[in-house]
Amino acid sequence: ANFMRVIVDVAPPGLDHHRGSDLLCVVRALLKKIRRRVLVGDRVLVGAVDWADRRGMIEDVFERRSEVADPPVANVDRLVVLFSLDQPRPEPATLTRFLVEAESTGIPFVLVFNKVELVDEQTIAYWRDRLKGWGYDPLFLSVDKQSGFTALEEMLEGQTTVVVGPSGVGKSSLINALRCNQNISEEDPIHKLLEQNSKWFGEQRVGTVSKKSGKGKHTTRHVSLLPIPGGGFLADTPGFNQPSLMKVTKKSLAETFPEIRKMLKENEPSKCLFNDCVHLGEHGCVVKGVWERYPYYLQMLDEIKIREEIQ
Ligand code: GDP
Ligand code: ZN
Repeated sequence: ANFMRVIVDVAPPGLDHHRGSDLLCVVRALLKKIRRRVLVGDRVLVGAVDWADRRGMIEDVFERRSEVADPPVANVDRLVVLFSLDQPRPEPATLTRFLVEAESTGIPFVLVFNKVELVDEQTIAYWRDRLKGWGYDPLFLSVDKQSGFTALEEMLEGQTTVVVGPSGVGKSSLINALRCNQNISEEDPIHKLLEQNSKWFGEQRVGTVSKKSGKGKHTTRHVSLLPIPGGGFLADTPGFNQPSLMKVTKKSLAETFPEIRKMLKENEPSKCLFNDCVHLGEHGCVVKGVWERYPYYLQMLDEIKIREEIQ
């Protein structure tokens, strides 16, 4: 069986002292039957609780505020889009792709540049100004030098966060630096459960074999939420290494560019003449002028058009 660790938020009358403790839970078979997948981060209803053994059964899943697909986490409050100023250097096209993907989730996010100690002040100012022109206000820090953390930590307090970004920018390093360093003590009853059921804790991958074909072994990543100081959680697995833009449509792409949002707002109450305007210089379009990322917008629009035609 697959176990999930559930933290008690509301306990039955008289059992309030169990708030904040853990229960090791299996998922009720009926939930699986109706294809209600329980994600890490879900708020769940637990029944059949054995308070002494700290076990229970997940019987229902409450409505989700948000959902990230990669890694699979529910009720995410914020994304950290992480890039580095050097090794590797920011690529405007890649940066734009990640920003568009982040915008398309609808989850608030903060853009963070790591490895500040590798560059000079001018480089930092250069990226700050350039991103300002795109409509963003990034944070700058160094995981190695442990500098510039305060603003980010304050922002993440009490929230559930997923770190995303290309490889090599320091996502795993950042996650390790932000998480609580407390290990579970050996006296804690949950420790024994963890030992017996090491499968659900840690970074191991869980391989599953398809029952239908008996082959096609695929690997599911196991995600855990790590507590952070000041409350809140951080997913131990970083996300979207390669933004797929699958949630972005020809029409919604424009909404993922702050520059276009700003131009549309500035022209209110006037709108583009055509309701389905994709701002390609159509007659009566209010999105005008020269702006830096317009070529990226066009490229991505092309890519999405091709995808939508194939589908
Ligand atoms: P990920 O692929 O995004 O998860 O990146 P990692 O966390 O694995 O880090 C990639 C490399 O960048 C490692 O060699 C880290 O030691 C290094 N790194 C992480 N943070 C910093 C930093 O602030 N400064 C420097 N110079 N290197 C860093
Ligand atoms: Zn238009």
